[in-house]
Amino acid sequence: MATGKINVSVDNIFPLIKKFLYSDHEIFLRELISNATDATLKLKHMTSIGEVKVDYGNPMIEIKLDKKGKKLHIIDQGIGMTQEEVKKYINEVAFSGAEEFLDKYKEAGKDAGIIGHFGLGFYSSFMVADKVEIITKSYKEEPAVHWSCDGSPEFSLKKSKKEDRGTEIILHIADDSTEFLEENRIKELLNKYNKFMPIPIKFGTRTETLPKPEGAKEEDPAPTKEVDNIVNNPNPAWTKQPADLKDEDYKSFYRELYPMQFEEPLFHIHLNVDYPFNLTGILYFPKLTNDLNIQKDRIQLYQNQVFVTDNVEGIVPEFLTMLRGVIDSPDIPLNVSRSYLQADGAVKKIASYITRKVADKLNSLFKNNREEFEAKWNDIKIVIEYGMLSEEKFFEKADKFALYPTVDGKYYTFEEMKEALKANQTDKDDKLVVLYASDKEAQHSYIEAAKNKGYEVLLMDSPIIAHLMQKLETSKENLSFARVDADHLDNLIKKEDTQISKLSDEEKERLKTNLEEVITDKGYTIQMEAMDSNASPFIITEPEFMRRMKEMQKTGGGGMFGMGNMPEMYNLIVNTNHELVGEILNTKTAKKRERLINQSLDLARLSKGLLKGEELTNFIKRSYEMVK
Ligand code: ADP
Repeated sequence: MATGKINVSVDNIFPLIKKFLYSDHEIFLRELISNATDATLKLKHMTSIGEVKVDYGNPMIEIKLDKKGKKLHIIDQGIGMTQEEVKKYINEVAFSGAEEFLDKYKEAGKDAGIIGHFGLGFYSSFMVADKVEIITKSYKEEPAVHWSCDGSPEFSLKKSKKEDRGTEIILHIADDSTEFLEENRIKELLNKYNKFMPIPIKFGTRTETLPKPEGAKEEDPAPTKEVDNIVNNPNPAWTKQPADLKDEDYKSFYRELYPMQFEEPLFHIHLNVDYPFNLTGILYFPKLTNDLNIQKDRIQLYQNQVFVTDNVEGIVPEFLTMLRGVIDSPDIPLNVSRSYLQADGAVKKIASYITRKVADKLNSLFKNNREEFEAKWNDIKIVIEYGMLSEEKFFEKADKFALYPTVDGKYYTFEEMKEALKANQTDKDDKLVVLYASDKEAQHSYIEAAKNKGYEVLLMDSPIIAHLMQKLETSKENLSFARVDADHLDNLIKKEDTQISKLSDEEKERLKTNLEEVITDKGYTIQMEAMDSNASPFIITEPEFMRRMKEMQKTGGGGMFGMGNMPEMYNLIVNTNHELVGEILNTKTAKKRERLINQSLDLARLSKGLLKGEELTNFIKRSYEMVK
């Protein structure tokens, strides 16, 4: 037996390893299984090119839990190591690797970000074990060796009787890490990090029911047998060629990724590129709700089928973090901090590749099956609108397929909308005025009023639509958006004024004075307008800019934070051609006039959704009194 001292520059690196990222202790298992996988794949490669003449067979990696002995075993059938190799790779290379890593980690300080996801390798086992053994036999004709180290820089190395090729790592789990002796905890880790690793991983056995033998009686129990419990899928869909996969395969892979997700994905995008970087993966468009925050962080990042993280911020453009699926790339540097990652040239290329692929896929869906695209629009619009706002390149592409639905369920592209509206929805300066509703129910009466005038009303109800409209107004020429209940339509739209006022100028002045005496609320700007006698007598509108500022304040962005509360500001449009308005003007007693004005104003407020709480209660009470 030989003993020795690992060549360490610091006195003892093990306390440092133990301290390393508390929350990440669990990665030790991923690191050890990665090593076992590499060792197996190396053997596979060498046999396939004929370099070694051994039977590769169907190797697997076994994880064995010995709760009583407080041990965890990781056993592979890979290339193994000779004594010389253990000395070189474990005592020198691996150790210096761990040391280097810890040095780097200390430098990076607390801004670690993605750091810590990779690098520590074999020595990460000392985060959870106070003694580690390696029993290994190389594929070469050499005796097996047994290495052992108890967490000090001293190690021992002796011959072993191990007969079969491969490596067994034995972790003596430390007292502060007994969670890793729990079957469920190990299952959880295997499921999180190793679900799609390329070599089958066995953890325990399970009982399989066999077919009954011929002639068995009804009441005879079916025979069973114990089989290896393989916990991973070594050939996940993203590693296959798109041509070899059917739609159903993509759907079942989605269920494999998100077993708790019952809703089917809307469609998928298969990523597959090998130049100028390597990347594979499958992204899914899920059905999204309006709550944007809970949707994020569902994309999983892998490196050669090893799970790294589900926080892909910095790698995937922000607007696509609402998608789901898998990205696998050996070219993403993972031992650097996130801020570095975002500035990395290769990562930038990856982000723009993904953006382009998503845009192309959407474009082909739009072109090949517009009907289906329209049917899915409501579920995908948030991602697209968000992308148009945040990525100029995406905006340019999406501008051709982004849809603008009308309240009646027609879908326009931007160009189609321009064509449709230009005939009668331009204002005095020839600017296209796009009328829209954000809530079909709440703005029903305004929508009807606009439609009666022959205008088309779009339905724009995403939470970020105010930002997108502003972007469109600045990037397109001669365009403005106005909500149906915004400043009155006739101010915006160039239409022959066919209505002649029934009231004289003097009467209008008198009416205005009357109204101002009763409506003392300074929030209202009173305007007289001659409209169809069937239109409402009082209509309340809110200036477009004011409402939009309020909305943007709510959803953030646009430098609107911390501007304090916007004042309430409304227009009260009085239809001078309405019978009731004439009655208000000609009422003899001031008291009756006041009652008519207040009741009409409340009706207008009710229709705009402004009447609430006590005021609403009083209004209803008053109305019952009147009909009595
Ligand atoms: P890395 O895997 O990043 O090279 P590690 O510290 O994890 O660093 O391992 C150091 C070296 O030890 C590996 O490169 C490999 O040569 C050897 N090694 C580790 N685990 C095994 C194993 N299970 N089978 C064969 N060799 C191994």
